Amino acid sequence: MDILLMGPPGAGKGTQATLLCDALGLPTFATGNLLRDAVRRGTPLGQQAKAVMESGQLVSDDIILGVIRDELDAPAAANGVIFDGVVRTIPQAEGMERLLAERGRRLNAVLFFDVPDAEILGRIERRRGIEGRADDDPAAVAIRLQSYREQTAPVLAWYEQRGTLVRIPAVGPVDDIATRVRRALAEHGS
Ligand code: AMP
Repeated sequence: MDILLMGPPGAGKGTQATLLCDALGLPTFATGNLLRDAVRRGTPLGQQAKAVMESGQLVSDDIILGVIRDELDAPAAANGVIFDGVVRTIPQAEGMERLLAERGRRLNAVLFFDVPDAEILGRIERRRGIEGRADDDPAAVAIRLQSYREQTAPVLAWYEQRGTLVRIPAVGPVDDIATRVRRALAEHGS
């Protein structure tokens, strides 16, 4: 089963991805985590992505599709993947569809974590205090939210047209949201 988690920065995708990983026994894959790790280790990928990430802008579609291809070719991903924040532009959505189709797969569900803007800013501010991410500073957050609205929000309509998008109200206790996610997958995850 391949599941895509979407939503603005700070929507709680990572938290729910971890819970789903335990429940379904599938690996999670977050391009943000992979890229941060590459930057920390100073790999060629990290060197390419560092400045763009720190500014809050999106890394190029070619880079992202390359890392998605590598992930899909990993043996651990053979039975499906929980993709956390991996598709952020229409070309990425098209590329992901193609890469999955080449392997006889498709996204079984796209879960959109719906959180009001005011709540998001508060969550990112709290996370900055805990994780100290360079791209959680106010200037970078503003750019991340802008690229979300301009480039990622249209992807929701793209999936909606294909009938794979499920909207999850993502405010409230983590366990309540996890229950909504399980129900959504039971009803729509085919
Ligand atoms: P995240 O941890 O998911 O907020 O990602 C941190 C940063 O990594 C983003 O602000 C982007 O610069 C980059 N990034 C992560 N995933 C993608 C993606 N699918 N497309 C483009 N850039 C990405």
